[in-house]
Amino acid sequence: MPEPAAQSAIRLTTPLSELPGVRPLHARRLAKLDLHYVADLLRHYPRRYEWRHGETPIAQLAVGGIGAARGELTSVQWVPGGGGRYGGRGRKGRFNAMLEDDAGDRLHLVWFNASWLRDKLHAGMRLCVQGEVKTYLNNKQMANPRWWPADVDRGQGAVDSGQGAGDRGQNNEPRASASGSGGGSGDEVLASELRPIYPATDQVSSETIQAMVAQVLPHVLPELAEPLPAALLRHHSMPTVADAFRMIHQPADDDAWKAAHRRLAFNELILLQLGIAVKRAYVRDRLEAPPLAISDAMHQHICERFPFTLTGAQQRVIAEIAHDLARPSPMNRLLQGDVGAGKTVIALYAALAAVAHRKQAAMMAPTELLAEQHFLSLSRMLEGSNVKIGLLTGGVAGNERSVLLSRIASGGVDLVVGTHALLTDQVNFNDLAVVVIDEQHRFGVSQRAAFRKAEHGGDNPIAGAEVPHHLVMTATPIPRTLSLTLFGDLDVSRLDELPPGRTPVVNKLVSPEQSDEVYRYVRTRLERGEQAYVVVPAIEQGDEDSGKPLKNVHEHARELQEKYFDGFKVAAVHGRLKRDTRENIMHRFRAGQVHVLVATTVIEVGVDVPNASVMVIEHAERFGLAQLHQLRGRVGRSSDGRRSLCTFIAEPTTETATQRMAAITSTNDGFLIAEKDLEIRGMGEFFGTRQSGLPPLRLARIPDDLELLQLARRDALAIVEKDPVLRRPEHALLRKVLMQQYGEALGLVDVG
Ligand code: ADP
Ligand code: MG
Repeated sequence: MPEPAAQSAIRLTTPLSELPGVRPLHARRLAKLDLHYVADLLRHYPRRYEWRHGETPIAQLAVGGIGAARGELTSVQWVPGGGGRYGGRGRKGRFNAMLEDDAGDRLHLVWFNASWLRDKLHAGMRLCVQGEVKTYLNNKQMANPRWWPADVDRGQGAVDSGQGAGDRGQNNEPRASASGSGGGSGDEVLASELRPIYPATDQVSSETIQAMVAQVLPHVLPELAEPLPAALLRHHSMPTVADAFRMIHQPADDDAWKAAHRRLAFNELILLQLGIAVKRAYVRDRLEAPPLAISDAMHQHICERFPFTLTGAQQRVIAEIAHDLARPSPMNRLLQGDVGAGKTVIALYAALAAVAHRKQAAMMAPTELLAEQHFLSLSRMLEGSNVKIGLLTGGVAGNERSVLLSRIASGGVDLVVGTHALLTDQVNFNDLAVVVIDEQHRFGVSQRAAFRKAEHGGDNPIAGAEVPHHLVMTATPIPRTLSLTLFGDLDVSRLDELPPGRTPVVNKLVSPEQSDEVYRYVRTRLERGEQAYVVVPAIEQGDEDSGKPLKNVHEHARELQEKYFDGFKVAAVHGRLKRDTRENIMHRFRAGQVHVLVATTVIEVGVDVPNASVMVIEHAERFGLAQLHQLRGRVGRSSDGRRSLCTFIAEPTTETATQRMAAITSTNDGFLIAEKDLEIRGMGEFFGTRQSGLPPLRLARIPDDLELLQLARRDALAIVEKDPVLRRPEHALLRKVLMQQYGEALGLVDVG
C-alpha cells in the first residue's frame, strides 16, 4: 500500500525496502539483482531500448481502428502489375507480406507500388507495423502500414541498438498514393515510445524496474550535484549528471540515451583517471626515495656480472631505470617484456644499484619454484662477489628462517629473493632501497596494491617519508587501453627485442587421438639430446572438477615412462611437493639428468632451461590464453638455432576455447595474444580486475571506449596539473566522489 508520507522522503540512500509498495519479499527479490538502495536502482542501467508503437496481439486488433502489431514476416511477395505495360520492371504492383505474432495469429500486409520494399523486407525479419486494420478475404489486413524493424538490437548491448533508430526513418519513405482499395493509414498514428529494457529476473521484470525508477527519479535527480566543471561539460557537449541519469532511464529518443550513455561512461573513466593521476602526482611530488646515482664504474662493475652482452633493448631499459633511480623520488616503473626477452638481468641491475649504495634490495616472485630458480641463477651470477643473497619463501622455516630474518633486519643480507612471504610483518629490512616484482601479472591487482602499501610503509605513509624504488616486471604485454587504466600510475619500459639466436617456436594443435604420434616424435627429439616438458592440468586423480577425467601428473608421468620413454628419465613436479624434493628435481632437469619433466602449471612462469626445446600441453583447452603463452615461453630459449616445438593437445568444446586454440597457434607474439585475450575475456577477467577492489566500469567498455578513455585521461591530467590533490573549492565535490569510489582501492586515503 502506498504511504504518501514516505514518498517525500525518497533519497539516494533510502533502502528500497522502505519505498511505498515494496514488501519484504519484493525487497529480497530486488536484492538478487544487487538492488538495495535507491542509488543502486539509478545505476541499474537499461541493457537496451525498444521502440514501442502501441502494439497489441494481432487477435486483439480492432477492425476499423488504428492498431499496431509485432511479429515475424513469414512470407513476402512482389506482385507486379497495376495496368502499366512495363510489367515487372516498373514500380507498379503490390508488395504482399504475412506477419505472424508470437501467439501464432496472422496479419496480412500490403503496400501498393512499393517496389523498393523488395530490398528492405525479407521473410524471417521481425517487424512492427502500425496502420488501419481492415479485413480482406476474411483476414485482418493493413494496407500501407508504417513499419519498423522490431528488434535489430536483440541480444546486443545498448551501444549497438542505435541502428533501429536509423531505420525508423523508413516509415517516412514515400507511400503509395491511395490507388485502389488501400487508402493508407492517413495521418492518424499511435504514439511511439522508447522503452528501456533492464537486466531483470523471472521474479522482477523489466517493467517493474522501469516503474520503480519512474517513481524515484523525480525525488532524487535534484539531489545529484554535478562533480565535473561546467566548462568541461560544455566543451564536450555533455549533459549534466542529473540530466544524464534522467536520459538514460527515460530517453525521449535514441540521441538522448546515447548522449547519456557517453556522459556516464565518461564519468566512470575520468574518475578512474583522476584517481590514478592524483596518486601519481602524490608519489612523485610528496614521497622521497634514496637517490641511487650510478657511476660509470658501478655500471661497468654490475655489467661484468652478466654472462652475455646485453641486447640494445636491455641497454635502453637499464638507462631508463638508472635515470629513475638517480632521482630523490621513488621510481614506479613497469617493465614489459615477452617471455624469454631477458628481464632477469634487468632486475639484477636494479637490485645491484641498491647494493652499490650499501642498501638492500628485494625481489619478489609469484611462486616458490620461480623464487628458488631466481635465487639459484642470481647466486650463480654473483659468485665470487661480496654481495650476500638470501631466499625467503614459505618453505624456508625454523631456524633457517629466523636467522635469515635477523640478517635482513641487521643488513647482513644485501639482496633477498622470495615470494609474498616477503610481505609479512616479520620481515623488516634494515635499509630497503629497491623492490623488484617479477611476473607481476600473476599477483593480481589487489595484491599489487598490497605490495605498494607494504613498501610505502603501511596504510599511512607520511608525506616526506622515504620509500624504496619500485620495478614491476611482466611478461604479459598490457594492451594499451589497460595500461592507461589499471597501470596508469606507472612509467612503462618495453623490452621489445629477444636475445640473439632465437628461432620461433613451431606450434601444433592436435586432437587427443594423435597423442601417440606426438609422444613418439618427442622421443626422437630426446634421442638428439634435447629435453621436454609435458604439462597436465591435475596433480593426482580426483583433482578434476569436470565430469571428464583429466590427465594428472603422477599417472601421466608413469604412463609416459613406461610406454614411450624407456631408457630416458621422466620426473614429475607440482605445487604440492616439498621444497627439497622440488629443488632436487629441477636441479636434475637443469643438469640434463631428467629428460622429461611432467608438470602442472607451476612451471608457467620464469622457469628457464634452454636445452628443453619441446613442450606438450595436455587438455590445452582448459588453460587461459595468457597462461598458454607463458607455458610455451619455457621453450624456444636456446640460442643454437634449433627449432623448438609446442604441441597443444586439445578438444575444445566451447566457442571461446576454440578461439583460444586458434589464437595461440596462430602467433608467438605476446602482444597480439594479450589483445586477443582481452577481446575474448573482456576487461573484467583480464588481470583479475574483479578482485582489484576498483569500482566496476558499468558503462564504459574497454577496449571499445578507447577514445573516450583518452579524452578522460587528458582532462584528468589537465585538472591534476593545476590542482594536484584537488584542493580547490571547485574540485571539492569531485574530490569527495573520488575518495568515496577509489580512495581505498588506489590507496588515496593518505593523499591528505
Ligand atoms: P624472461 O624473464 O624475460 O622471460 P630471462 O631473463 O629468463 O627471460 O631470460 C631468458 C633467457 O635468455 C635466459 O636463459 C637468459 O640467460 C638469456 N638471456 C637474457 N639476455 C640475454 C642476452 N642479452 N644475450 C643472450 N642471452 C640472454
Ligand atoms: Mg623471468
